[in-house]
Amino acid sequence: MRFSELSSYLERLEKTASRNQMTEILAEFLGKLSVDEVDKACYLVLGRLGPLYETVEFNLAEKMMIRVLAEAFGVDDKEAWQRYKGTGDLGVVAEQLRVSFGRSELRGGLSVEEVFAKLLEIAGAEGTGSQEVKVLKMAELLRSLGSLSNRYVTRIPLGQLRLGFSDVTLIDALSWVFKGDKSVSDEIRAKFNICPDIGLLAVKLRRKGLRDLKEVELAVGHPIRSALAERLPSAEKIVEKLGKFAVEPKVDGLRVQIHLSKSSKFKAQSSKSDNQNDLFGKESGIDPDVLVRIFSRNMADSTHMFPEIVVAAQKLPVESAILDGEAIAFNPDTEEFLPFQETMQRKRKYRVVEKSKKIPLKVFVFDILFLNGRSLLDESFVERRKGLEGVVRGGVIELIRHQVVSSQDKLRELFDLYISEGLEGVMCKKLDTPYQAGARNFDWIKYKRGTEGKGLPDTVDGLVLGYYAGRGQRAKFGVGAFLVGVYNSDSDIFETVAKVGTGLTDSQWEEFMKRVKGLQVKDRPKQYLIDKALTCDFWVRPGLVVEIDADEITRSPVHTAGRDLEVEEVRDSGMSLRFPRLVCFREKQLEEVTTAKEILAMYRMQKK
Ligand code: AMP
Repeated sequence: MRFSELSSYLERLEKTASRNQMTEILAEFLGKLSVDEVDKACYLVLGRLGPLYETVEFNLAEKMMIRVLAEAFGVDDKEAWQRYKGTGDLGVVAEQLRVSFGRSELRGGLSVEEVFAKLLEIAGAEGTGSQEVKVLKMAELLRSLGSLSNRYVTRIPLGQLRLGFSDVTLIDALSWVFKGDKSVSDEIRAKFNICPDIGLLAVKLRRKGLRDLKEVELAVGHPIRSALAERLPSAEKIVEKLGKFAVEPKVDGLRVQIHLSKSSKFKAQSSKSDNQNDLFGKESGIDPDVLVRIFSRNMADSTHMFPEIVVAAQKLPVESAILDGEAIAFNPDTEEFLPFQETMQRKRKYRVVEKSKKIPLKVFVFDILFLNGRSLLDESFVERRKGLEGVVRGGVIELIRHQVVSSQDKLRELFDLYISEGLEGVMCKKLDTPYQAGARNFDWIKYKRGTEGKGLPDTVDGLVLGYYAGRGQRAKFGVGAFLVGVYNSDSDIFETVAKVGTGLTDSQWEEFMKRVKGLQVKDRPKQYLIDKALTCDFWVRPGLVVEIDADEITRSPVHTAGRDLEVEEVRDSGMSLRFPRLVCFREKQLEEVTTAKEILAMYRMQKK
């Protein structure tokens, strides 16, 4: 397919807000692609150059893009800036400049694969002079494309393609291509949960249809989507739900999925496998021949954050494994766990080895998904735990404590014990269930400090959708309140659940403004479903997650959360948080935002 044709599809997608129409357009588009190009096309329409977990950074920000436009179309930087100020969109500026440059409606033109390859090359330019190389190559690419293609290809490196859908909608569209409806969406999504690479799944489907898809298995080196926990408000309810179950401490750190392979075959396959030494330096004690990759809950490769985990994992007595656990910082003198913020310090890019000596970490592993070449996903929790006990010996990587209980008293006793140790609460786990990648259900139930007897059984991780200008006292910050949304995973949109305007300290308001800087957009993103009464003064694209506490969940005529879930309780209304207040800014990602269904489950819980 020519890139110009892909651009026409992008234009059609940009023009519609209807989820069904988007799915249909995407299905038509996907149906026209060949096996060789379908993966690249999937990444491109999502504004990326690979699967979610292999983010390719362009390092080509707005300022540099202005230079690109000036270079490409022979105007000076000032003119490009001026036009940018007028339109607020460099994609549109590129399109306009391309038209003025002449011969903008090229016949034929570059193919999708060619443009993809050029973008990869631009992103990959490194070292001295690489900025210049990026500018020149990007300018050349823009000149060789037509005007509409210019609009979209300019937005991709800027991270501004944002057509209002995610991998979830593409999964539905793939189902449409093969069945003419959404009937195999669940099957595709189940594979996406253990292999979150939409491009790869599309290639498999294109090649041999669903038969090829069946062969998709989890593999060392590719993250799988983490299993998540539901919540219940009391020990009584948990015992009622689970009967006999395992109790583990809930550790408040960072989720880590540790992938390990000692096989040389694997090393040869992995493009990143030889840079472990580069990552930490020779003195770190890392064995360059044993591959370790550590992924966060959002599937980001976080290996660079944890040199001591890499070393410890390499010493495990196995050929290959995938472990699931939580890393937490501790004070080496007192052995006490440190608050989440301290663990977060590892998120820095530089001098991690030094930091790891000052504030060491431990990982508490609670699950094993793969062992010596075999997937354990379908084994029961009890069997997986047995496997885990044979692998983990303690030290930096430690087995999480674990007790099987069946009474409220015992559960409360453990809860109190863990809270007294500074932990967050407990995780209760069903004994006979498989590992359900990407699922949040009652196989795992979290029971956290401060939630018993309260209106809400848990805090809400919401997405900041926009904010309102401050008046009076707040005018000095430029914000008086902000709008918070939850995620509707069925329709791939964000719905509003609270307007937060109280409970922030002056420094939190300042921090709010700092954090939204760079995320602000001119128009309301299409993925937001907002009642007119709540229209914001400033819009914020998906990027800032906040933890919100509240007194209860009530039905609301203006908030949209759950409005289209089609359930009796919230028919013709949405749900909202009563007396919402900010707990903290979270480092969480979009995938972790509380869903409308979870809000509904909490709403139902309060009624019982
Ligand atoms: P939450 O972020 O409140 O939804 O809680 C779920 C998170 O708790 C998981 O993603 C893990 O990062 C973390 N966690 C802490 N301890 C455990 C445990 N024992 N089992 C599973 N997850 C745990």
